[in-house]
Amino acid sequence: MGGVRKILHLSARYQHNWIKPVGFDTGIKVYNCRTQGKVPFIVRNKDSVTWYTCGPTVYDSSHIGHASCYVKLDIIRRILQNHFSLNLITVMNITDIDDKIITKSSASKISINDLAKIYEKEFWEDMHILNVLKPHVIMRVSENIPLIERFIMKLLKEGHAYKDNDGSILFQIGTYGKLQNVNREQLANFTVWKAAKENEPSWMIQCGAGRPGWHTECSAMASAIFGSEIDIHAGGIDLKFPHHENEEAQCCAYFSKQQWVNYWLHTGHLVRNAVKMSKSLQNTTTIRGMLELCSGNVFRMMCLMSHYRKNMEFSEEYVHAAKTHLETYTNFLINCNIIINNPYKPHIEIDVLNDCVRQSVTKFSDALKDDFDTAQCIKIIDNLISVINRMLHNSSQMSHLQEITPLIGACNFVTNMLHMFGFNLSNRHEISESNETELTNILTKFRQNVRAIGLETKNSNLISLCDSVRDDLYKLGVSVKDHKYISLWSKI
Ligand SMILES: [Zn+2]
Repeated sequence: MGGVRKILHLSARYQHNWIKPVGFDTGIKVYNCRTQGKVPFIVRNKDSVTWYTCGPTVYDSSHIGHASCYVKLDIIRRILQNHFSLNLITVMNITDIDDKIITKSSASKISINDLAKIYEKEFWEDMHILNVLKPHVIMRVSENIPLIERFIMKLLKEGHAYKDNDGSILFQIGTYGKLQNVNREQLANFTVWKAAKENEPSWMIQCGAGRPGWHTECSAMASAIFGSEIDIHAGGIDLKFPHHENEEAQCCAYFSKQQWVNYWLHTGHLVRNAVKMSKSLQNTTTIRGMLELCSGNVFRMMCLMSHYRKNMEFSEEYVHAAKTHLETYTNFLINCNIIINNPYKPHIEIDVLNDCVRQSVTKFSDALKDDFDTAQCIKIIDNLISVINRMLHNSSQMSHLQEITPLIGACNFVTNMLHMFGFNLSNRHEISESNETELTNILTKFRQNVRAIGLETKNSNLISLCDSVRDDLYKLGVSVKDHKYISLWSKI
């Protein structure tokens, strides 16, 4: 047999049907890859929603394909937590033992352990720059061998897995074949435990020395922490088959269940000129490289503008479009802030604006309920901002203070939306603080030049205007000293 068994025909127990969970209906409709349509998103317990994400294999710098997957999932996590008030419990694995790590380690002469640590550290730094929330629990394969062993031993004992001639353990597909619309011909038994090889790291478990197979590490770790039913399991669309397929099959076998994961979330590819960006095609760039072209906030806007399931085009035009969007939002908030804090206010049609804000809030929430349609959310915000901008632009009369309240309401809505989607707005404050010195420099230099003209032309009006600027600055804690044509300033 050469160790590889024939693909078994699927048993009568095989079925495609998705089983609707019992629990709290969130009101959200989410795409389901099994039914190939949108289904109600029902969580077992809204105060403990379980979410497992397949993490990276840490053998190299993460590329922007990873960035798009994890930023898109981060956006969904924030929507569920912040907009729908679900209490999520999130877990991610780190694959720190793998063929690619072993190959790179022997080529670079860096130990497997050190190599994995270097790239894992870099991965979390990248995620931090992209403002991706950390999972609550991080599970490294090398630290969880005992629970992987427990998982494999049960599969063996119950006949769902068998020992191959070389000592590897294989999963017997077809025992529980609960798959996601793939051809039967595509199914094959897969390795649960790879037998130890010379010069490769291995662990001794009851069924022999070796290391875990990739699909099994996720199944074992996710089920060890979350048990026989998981609300959400997420990853890039590439993982749908065979990785997620095999994870589901193993866990259904392990727990003797028809369904392990209730909802699979798959993010679309990142593409350039309609071709998937990937390391193997050598048309990708690292996250660090990407951040030289656009900020984490701009990248997040790109992800929002494209639906999470769709492929996202990484092009100069798209980066530019996202940058423009973000600037429009920021400028809108700055303009509103100026108007709100200025005694002269343009006339605002309260009823029209109130109506517009109310409708936007409802439509925004409806779009999020429709399979997290963030692209639609962005259009709704765009529309609200353009209505307000038009209103402000066309206004010729000044208004009373109370007419400003719907404008503040609109501002709050846009600001909350930016926070909710995970934009890092703290940079703006940092910039404004460092700009304080620069602003004082500009003002002092301008005053110095005006004063020099005043002195040369003996224009006492200019001199006295300069004196009043100096007195106003003093009240703000800035002391200006004039030395003939030169003016210097310091903080008091
Ligand atoms: Zn996985």
